[in-house]
Amino acid sequence: NNPLNTTDSEIFDIIADEANRQEAHIELIASENYTSKAVMEAQGSVLTNKYAEGYPGKRYYGGCEFADKAETLAIERAKTLFNADYANVQPHSGSQANAAVYMALLKPGDTILGLSLDHGGHLTHGAKPNFSGKLYNAVQYGLNTDTGEIDYQQVAALAEEHQPKMIVAGFSAYSRVIDWQKFKDIAQSVGAYLFVDMAHVAGLVAAGLYPNPVPFADVVTTTTHKTLRGPRGGLILCKSNPELEKKFNSLIFPGIQGGPLMHVIAAKAVAFKEALAPEFTTYQQQVVDNAQAMAEVFLKRGYGVVSGGTDNHLFLVDLIARGMTGKEADALLGAVNITVNKNTVPNDPQSPFVTSGIRIGTPAVTSRGFKVSHVSDLANWMCDLLDNPEDAYVSEQVKSNVAKLTSEFPVYA
Ligand code: PLP
Repeated sequence: NNPLNTTDSEIFDIIADEANRQEAHIELIASENYTSKAVMEAQGSVLTNKYAEGYPGKRYYGGCEFADKAETLAIERAKTLFNADYANVQPHSGSQANAAVYMALLKPGDTILGLSLDHGGHLTHGAKPNFSGKLYNAVQYGLNTDTGEIDYQQVAALAEEHQPKMIVAGFSAYSRVIDWQKFKDIAQSVGAYLFVDMAHVAGLVAAGLYPNPVPFADVVTTTTHKTLRGPRGGLILCKSNPELEKKFNSLIFPGIQGGPLMHVIAAKAVAFKEALAPEFTTYQQQVVDNAQAMAEVFLKRGYGVVSGGTDNHLFLVDLIARGMTGKEADALLGAVNITVNKNTVPNDPQSPFVTSGIRIGTPAVTSRGFKVSHVSDLANWMCDLLDNPEDAYVSEQVKSNVAKLTSEFPVYA
């Protein structure tokens, strides 16, 4: 007599299958994580029924007294977590948050300067198929292909040449610490806004393990579902700036969104509370330790790692010298229930759909309890498999190791 099973057994079964997949597979996609049951309970609550267009205290609908309380808690906790004076917790996603920022600060045709997709930027940082590359004149910077690190000299030179109205810093696939001060200096030298998208490292920033961009940038956005381990969603933050705050608020609503997802906002509030607890710092430190331990194994086993290691939750394995594509590696690992994603690497000869690298991230495995010894074993199994792509025995062996490890560490015990 489960209500979902009674009403819709097909969806009930799909969700059960997905739950089993999440338990039985080792999740190494750097942008994924497992939220707590508390977060999921808030997200599955009656708040999904409520329309609350507007902001706390200024709504276009009646009956918003509890919606106001939930949103206010989320805002205040986000501000505390990231030492910001302003937070907008309504963006439905990271891309929506970024769209609001662009529309608040730019006019169509304005020049933006962001990290290119194939060097680790996000689609919304000016990539051609995205609105950010269509509506704006997007100039892209990249990594120094020798060091695998951001080439600040190139950023400064492109800024000087193109005089962008906005410089975008932040990434989806970069394993080093970004020097926010350098970005601020470059932006100031050409009178550009500095916009930081810290989606990938927000959890590390919240824990004090990665520099907080809020003091440096005109505006910061993040998703709430990656290292931050909340529900899927977006967030906008900035220092006190009444003029910009007003613009961001009115761009989210009524600019690009209608009613806020109050159930998601409540779940964000829960996640922020979890992130404010001391255990969250311990968790994030383990995320970084695990990523570093895995990168070390790949290096020891003779694999290229972009930039030679990692300072955060992810790293990129460069397979060019191995003559293997990212697509092949992704499929090999997927067959033994290890989920990664193919990713372009500097000087990649392959197309973005094939690539010559894989991106490996540790937020999810750390949430389920893996420590350095477990991820080191895991990285060695992955190398065994990549070293012997045709060997069915190795593949069977790794698959059974994965089954044993995942059953020892249930995600939702
Ligand atoms: N910004 C960065 C840096 C990201 O990596 C991502 C997602 O991968 C986003 C924004 C977009 O977030 P969403 O998928 O919630 O739109």
